[in-house]
Amino acid sequence: MKRVVSFLLAMVLLVSLIPASTAVYAADSKLIAITFDDGPCAHTTRLLDGLAQRGVNVTFFTVGTGVANYPNTVKRAYQSGHQIANHSYNHPELTALSNSEVINQVSRTSGLLDQICGKGTSYFFRAPYGSTSSRVRSLIGMPLILWSVDTVDWKYRNSTTVKNNIVNNAHDGAIVLLHDIHATTIDGALAGIDILLAQGYELVTVTELFRRRGVTPYSGTSYSQCRDTGADYGSITEPVITTAPEGHRQRVTMTAPQGSRIYYSLDGSDINQESKLYTGPILVDPPCTLKAVAAYNLNGDRSKTVTKQISLPAAPAPTFQIEGDSLTIISAASDTHIYYTLDGSTPTTGAAPYTTPIKLQPDTVVRAIATGTAYLPSAVSSAYFSLQSHFFLDVFPQDWFCSAIDLATTAGYMNGIGNYRFAPRSGLTRGQFVTLLYRYAQAACTEQMRETIPFDDLNRTAYYFDPVCWAYENGIVNGYNAEEFRPEAFITRQEMCKILSVFLTCRGKQLPEASNSVSGYADYNSIHHWALPHVDTMTSIGLFQGDNDHNFRPTANAERAHAATVLLRLADLEPNLPDLPQAPQEEPADPVDNVGSLREGPSAS
Ligand code: ZN
Repeated sequence: MKRVVSFLLAMVLLVSLIPASTAVYAADSKLIAITFDDGPCAHTTRLLDGLAQRGVNVTFFTVGTGVANYPNTVKRAYQSGHQIANHSYNHPELTALSNSEVINQVSRTSGLLDQICGKGTSYFFRAPYGSTSSRVRSLIGMPLILWSVDTVDWKYRNSTTVKNNIVNNAHDGAIVLLHDIHATTIDGALAGIDILLAQGYELVTVTELFRRRGVTPYSGTSYSQCRDTGADYGSITEPVITTAPEGHRQRVTMTAPQGSRIYYSLDGSDINQESKLYTGPILVDPPCTLKAVAAYNLNGDRSKTVTKQISLPAAPAPTFQIEGDSLTIISAASDTHIYYTLDGSTPTTGAAPYTTPIKLQPDTVVRAIATGTAYLPSAVSSAYFSLQSHFFLDVFPQDWFCSAIDLATTAGYMNGIGNYRFAPRSGLTRGQFVTLLYRYAQAACTEQMRETIPFDDLNRTAYYFDPVCWAYENGIVNGYNAEEFRPEAFITRQEMCKILSVFLTCRGKQLPEASNSVSGYADYNSIHHWALPHVDTMTSIGLFQGDNDHNFRPTANAERAHAATVLLRLADLEPNLPDLPQAPQEEPADPVDNVGSLREGPSAS
């Protein structure tokens, strides 16, 4: 029985020696721990600057009187990831003190350090002069750290000597003794560190040195180095933070290397041993500043601090509904307020608050935002109530096609695509354009037309079927070939010219003779031969023109805005149609844009 118990005890001890992190075997790992005693003092800040430049962490064995005088220096060192350790209160020969005096020397300094590192922090101890006895060691109650490289910097006070003593005695697993109370030590140590780094040493704190080698230091035991054990458990990496909205709150999830812990704060305060310990996803109320550190030991074996601003979500942008001239503005979030303008200016919380539906005058641009205490202001929603009293989300007075679309919509030549959108820059299909002409002409399709249509790729129940049969019968369209009409293909500008030209001829319009207008286009060589006379004619009568570079762009998709313009111009050319309120705009320079696909149903065009 006794043997079983001792076996179990041995197992527990063995397990406790091995960190939970996964060992990475690295035969050539060269670790070294630089330590500074007797500070902090006025020189320590310069040392911290130099260490920060090199991205190096060390261990400070501090005396309590220095901690009391330079608490901010200790705090900076601790937050930078250096290890803070205890070197007594005022540096006495401990073996000459009584038990209570020894305990007081240790606890007084630990108490001062706890104010910086937080209660619950564990410290390593180094006895002044390295001088202990078994009585003193048992009283201290901490691991005792000696050294394997003594630079004797206190004696030589020469930076070159200090540097040489570091470099010439350095070895893997070494603990190097220095004193940051001497200016010559600061210079010599930084110069020596540069050489160690160049030689491939990784500079670590004492606690990291032990942890990476899988060694657990015991209280009351002295250690002067930590040789290669064949294992390297690796340095720690920063926690990875992800956030996801949950109502008005944000769910924060953090991950860190196996075996490490994550400490965090939500008020922007620095992390120490008293900070919150992450155990699983947390819900936070924005706005707040999350700081998080992954650590095997916050005191010297920690990641850099990650700071993340968690902001309020933006309110959903308001939406519009119109009945006649009465506009309702809607926010998807009930705990928001809406502000709007009617003069085109950008609304702020100083703009008119929305309470009840607004009567709109024609030719009004309305813009609105939603905001609330739990939100950042939304994106601005904009709409245009046109001269013809149409409501558009994507057509505004400054657009070249605004008037044409407004009038074409009034005339019933074209409709929007739903939800107050006209999609002016979208292409339209061959089927859609032929359907527009069919409706414009108020044409009718006969059973005989339906029977003689030769194309295999037409859906007989589609909205375009009757219009295509009619257009084919009248010679307005020929198809791509004998079998295909390709009703779903976007119509190009040269195709539109040809169809319009034939359509006008069918309507009895006397078109001008060829005038070689196409030669004015820089890219007229790229106009297909079958389209050349039609592009020429449509250019002559002013239905098409080039872009800013005088290119016709024959194979570019014609846009819905073009179709609206063209239909209005047709109406102008045909005297027997009723007058429209005003002449449509000229097609401007640079209207061509090869916009991506728009698939719309029969009601759309
Ligand atoms: Zn000392």
